[in-house]
Amino acid sequence: MNREAWEQLRSWNRTPDTAALLTDIDGVLAPIVPTPDMSEVSGEVRELLRRLSGNYRVVAGISGRAAMDALRLVGVEEILYYGNHGFEVLRDGQVEIVSEAAPYKEKVEELERLAREELAPLGAFIEEKGITASIHYRNVSPEVGERCKEFVTREGERLGLRVTSGRGVVEARPPIRADKGTATRKVVEEYRPQKALFIGDDLTDLDAFRELERLSEEGVLSETLRIGVKSEEGPPEITSEADLVVEGTEGVEEVLRMLASRD
Ligand SMILES: [Mg+2]
Repeated sequence: MNREAWEQLRSWNRTPDTAALLTDIDGVLAPIVPTPDMSEVSGEVRELLRRLSGNYRVVAGISGRAAMDALRLVGVEEILYYGNHGFEVLRDGQVEIVSEAAPYKEKVEELERLAREELAPLGAFIEEKGITASIHYRNVSPEVGERCKEFVTREGERLGLRVTSGRGVVEARPPIRADKGTATRKVVEEYRPQKALFIGDDLTDLDAFRELERLSEEGVLSETLRIGVKSEEGPPEITSEADLVVEGTEGVEEVLRMLASRD
């Protein structure tokens, strides 16, 4: 499996203008570190991304981080960033909210305002992420945590938002599908490459893998490559659904180097 995929990858550098390079950021371009703000992309990877952006149809980082935060971490202005679960895109220094989500921006702000009034005084932390709002209650009593969940669920529903809960956090977002799969489709529809690859290491990246498959079945893309980055914490599907499996950020660097080579 791997040798064939490497050969395919090697052939892409002959016609870079027909190919889109899409990649997750954390765990792929930047090694996973204990806290997200200590994360860093190496100078070598930065340089490779700059070179690739000059030759390929499009290079895009697709991340769960806010798009601005993704840019700060990667430090390369020449590429496109889809952030915040695919809800926003950063291009030429401007953050745009994807059109389907834009009408919900005011509703999300309204929810944040209510949460600041009602929940922040109880110790909850309101993270304003633009088009999504996260209310964190990890550091408060279980009763206050329950109160946060109830409040955000009730008010979120009233405002027509989708509410989801995680560990110590309840989130409200527009009720439309936005993930790394929808971001992948948007990039392909806008830039119209013939080939596209996605490099990922985690569960949310599987949406992008599956979207590439659909785009290929629909005949929109003639070639696709799903590149899985193997790690101890990563889900097994990242390697089982991949066409090519690499080890850690060093493996990713090798992929980028091959794409950039002029043999
Ligand atoms: Mg990742």
